Amino acid sequence: MEGTGELLLPEEERERLWQAVIGAIEAYTRDVAALRVAPVLDPAGARALAEALRFDSPREPDEAVEFVARGLREQQVHTPHPRYFGLFNPAPTTMGIAADALAAAFNPQIAAWSHNPFAAEIEMRLVREIGAKFGYDPARVDGVFCSGGAEANHTALLCALHRVFPAAWEEGLAGSGGRPVMYVSVEGHHSFLKAARLCGLGARGIRAVPSDSALRIDVGALMEQIAHDRAEGCTPFLLVGTGGTTGAGVVDPLEELARIAELEGAWFHVDAAWGGAAALVPEMRRVLAGIERADSITFDAHKWLSVPMGAGLFLTRHRDALPGTFATAQSYMPRDAEGFDIVDPFNKSMQWSRRFIGLKVFLSLAVAGWEGYAAAIRHQTAMGDLLREELSRHDWRIVNDTPLPTVCFVNGREDRGDDAEYLRAVCARVVSSGRAWLSTTLLGGTIHALRACITNYRTGPDDVRALISALNDARAAASRLPSTNVRGAAI
Ligand SMILES: *Cc1c(COP(=O)(O)O)cnc(C)c1O
Repeated sequence: MEGTGELLLPEEERERLWQAVIGAIEAYTRDVAALRVAPVLDPAGARALAEALRFDSPREPDEAVEFVARGLREQQVHTPHPRYFGLFNPAPTTMGIAADALAAAFNPQIAAWSHNPFAAEIEMRLVREIGAKFGYDPARVDGVFCSGGAEANHTALLCALHRVFPAAWEEGLAGSGGRPVMYVSVEGHHSFLKAARLCGLGARGIRAVPSDSALRIDVGALMEQIAHDRAEGCTPFLLVGTGGTTGAGVVDPLEELARIAELEGAWFHVDAAWGGAAALVPEMRRVLAGIERADSITFDAHKWLSVPMGAGLFLTRHRDALPGTFATAQSYMPRDAEGFDIVDPFNKSMQWSRRFIGLKVFLSLAVAGWEGYAAAIRHQTAMGDLLREELSRHDWRIVNDTPLPTVCFVNGREDRGDDAEYLRAVCARVVSSGRAWLSTTLLGGTIHALRACITNYRTGPDDVRALISALNDARAAASRLPSTNVRGAAI
């Protein structure tokens, strides 16, 4: 066809291309468990590989796809690997992969409802049904899909500021007459610090509240801090509770936080980016007790719902919050939805053009159902329990307390078994062996630990035992070295 260049490929080439894409996806899905979990890092090699395919001598489409698939496979920490015990990155659902391809092909512009009412209504249905799982009234809940939890948390900050400092929407924060401060535990997510800076509060607008011995926000310290800030003329406008901390999977006392926020007239946000999935399993729901009292919730479908990245969700029980915060009027957006009882999605989001994120959740749910998801979440929770049992049996000491499958632990056999450098060396040994991937973390600002999380619905008992065996080997190797040389042991 004239004028399309190679942007639209002819039908028979498309056929070959789709087969190459499907082949690459299927081979990866089928074979990932047989690969090393993490590659050996080689910055110069990675750059050379990225530059190896030249743009002045174009390749055949299927050849280009194969080049990329091979590079991804060789360079990747295989987050979909059943022995990736990592950072909440899932093995993507099959339906989620299909959904992302469909969303790319139809490419609906869901800034405006009228550009694809079906897509917009799919997302709103998910907002209502997932909102109901958290205990929100489906007739009143509102929400919007986001790039991820960081954007959802940023959205929460904006909604809270808008409610407590409405004048700031015209005058800016400086003209609003208040000194806004927000509260989040030291175990909370760093996206709040970014969001505070992006909202003009600066790092000093955020109070990092200490955690208690169970790594939950210390309510006494929180109340003291609030009283101190009030006396200084500051206005507490946002209180954040975490529903499953990133480091230790711990849930803050949400009921108590809800009560304090109410007394203070502050917005109460629960960041349940990962742990929110407990709401989908009836017997786990109580882990999140009090979340229904939150003014808003962050929930990431690309974490425990296992859809491909990125799929964040911001939910609120206040229908006026998002339009109040984000609505703008301008001449170029279509007005076709005027006259219907519709708020255009662009008036509820910091994004304009927005990918059809909800489709991967919708299609995954269409095939797995709520029951299928509940089964997957139960399975991963059981694998977390097995991991705790096996670790204890082999004298690893667990240092966090959560029913969710995030396990933080140290070596209980040696005095230096909780030393940061020692733990990093053990971790590096496991990762460089290619047998499993895990990480280290710092809890409560003082406790160093190894961290292993069940993030994959394919992780089974044999994978858990393989991790234990890799850890035991790393421990044995580390103890053969003089303690001054543990760092060397990592290499
Ligand atoms: C992962 C995570 C986030 C950030 O979410 P992204 O989707 O990575 O932007 C925020 N809060 C918590 C508690 C998280 O675990």
